[in-house]
Amino acid sequence: MGIVVDVSTNNPLMNRPVRRPEVLAKRRPGIDYDGLPSSLAETAIEPGDPGYPRVRSNYLRGGAPGLVLLPRDVPEVVDALSFARRHPHLPLGIRSGGHGVSGRSTNDGGLVIDLRRLNTVEVLDRETRLVRIGPGARWKEVAAALRPYGWALGSGDYGGVGVGGLATAGGIGFLSRRHGLTIDHLRAVELVLADGSIVRAGQDEHPDLFWAVRGAGANFGIVTSFEFQVDEVTDVGWAQLALDAADPAGFLLRFGEAAANAPRETTAFLLMGPPRRGRPAVAQVMAMVASADPDVVVEQLRPFAAISALYQQQVVIAPYADVIDNAPDDDHHGQGEPVSRSAFVREITPAFAAAAERLLRSGVVYFFQLRSVGGAVADVAPDATAYPHREAGFQLTAMGIDAKRMDRLWDEVREHFDGLYLSFETDTRPQRLADAFPPPTLDRLRELKRRYDPDNVFRDNFNIDPRTDTSFRDIA
Ligand SMILES: Cc1cc2nc3c(=O)[nH]c(=O)nc-3n(C[C@H](O)[C@H](O)[C@H](O)COP(=O)(O)OP(=O)(O)OC[C@H]3O[C@@H](n4cnc5c(N)ncnc54)[C@H](O)[C@@H]3O)c2cc1C
Repeated sequence: MGIVVDVSTNNPLMNRPVRRPEVLAKRRPGIDYDGLPSSLAETAIEPGDPGYPRVRSNYLRGGAPGLVLLPRDVPEVVDALSFARRHPHLPLGIRSGGHGVSGRSTNDGGLVIDLRRLNTVEVLDRETRLVRIGPGARWKEVAAALRPYGWALGSGDYGGVGVGGLATAGGIGFLSRRHGLTIDHLRAVELVLADGSIVRAGQDEHPDLFWAVRGAGANFGIVTSFEFQVDEVTDVGWAQLALDAADPAGFLLRFGEAAANAPRETTAFLLMGPPRRGRPAVAQVMAMVASADPDVVVEQLRPFAAISALYQQQVVIAPYADVIDNAPDDDHHGQGEPVSRSAFVREITPAFAAAAERLLRSGVVYFFQLRSVGGAVADVAPDATAYPHREAGFQLTAMGIDAKRMDRLWDEVREHFDGLYLSFETDTRPQRLADAFPPPTLDRLRELKRRYDPDNVFRDNFNIDPRTDTSFRDIA
């Protein structure tokens, strides 16, 4: 037992945990532990505390932060940020659900502001289906809370992901082609800016900030609540198909055709891995049809089942919340540093399919996923939000172990790409910013960054450095 709480009433340090010397010995340099405001001291976790193993890492990334702050409300978020600003020399991670791939919501020896306790889901107006959601809620919790109303809000494919990270970057999910990205449902956000002020941003208040939050939110503040207009969603058709992928390039071409020609009710994701000796090559297609009508579901899935020999199929009609209830409630124990690359492609051409097959056969990539977009995602103009990739047909993610080998291969296939979804990218080279944000978007974001975060406090995720004048047009 490492912590003793001193509860004597005449003690000015009331509610401040008193730590034993062996716990204090694990403190990291450069952090004013004793200067922590008492509002945060009660819940903060240090390296020697018993709760530390539960908060140090993320889902995919190992970490050893010097202090994890766990604010319980917005004033405590302001206090946490003010404390962090007294430590500009340290890395600062903003954490909601801890599933960040690009976002570094853990670090080594720095500070983490962990928003897990800001996790409420409230209905603001039944008539207009307006809901307010805290950043620390997980998407499976959101789906479960909306289900009794017959509503849903598309997020991604995994219910464990947090609202804060996904809803500030995009949100490509199984309802995207029918209902758009998660950010397309945002009507307003409340955020704590770098100077500690609390602002509401929406179409009529701070519209420039509202534009930036929808795609590049991590650079502009800590979002403490999101207001979304959600959709009426009936039960949905949900299919998991295992198909023969002995000819990866041919498979990709046929998948690309089926996904691009599908009505917008259907959104399909494809998962492939490297061929393994002695085992049949299998591709998994996961597809959602936004309809409860079995005839519509079967009709729209038929082209996917016909791509190649079908080894296994499971098709159900189920509530959206059941499909997205696919993640455990466990703490995160990620280790090391993920190696993930991300891109958009307009269509699956024979040249792209051949390049993708080379990637898969290289032995460098162990996870290869294509998410189909288009449909309602493309109804929004590219400059309407800071997510400009409205014309893409597919989003590609590839994960590997060796960053150098991955980069070499990725650079060879780059000619087929048209942009990058920042949520799945771990390459921190500044050129990647130019892939995520084309020049007009990046110029506008940099101008806003200079206005709202001139000291670059928020820099843990695809940082737009306000002090850099380099035009990425020149270095891309
Ligand atoms: C298993 C898995 C499946 C995924 N599937 C999908 C998918 O289908 N579709 C999709 O679009 N994405 C998907 N993602 C990517 C995911 O959306 C991002 O990684 C997202 O950032 C995770 O959000 P989080 O809150 O859980 O992560 P965190 O690690 O808590 O945060 C990630 C970053 O987001 C920023 N951030 C977090 N909270 C806030 C806040 N309140 N205010 C401002 N900035 C904040 C910070 O920069 C932080 O470093 C997936 C990721 C994983 C690991």
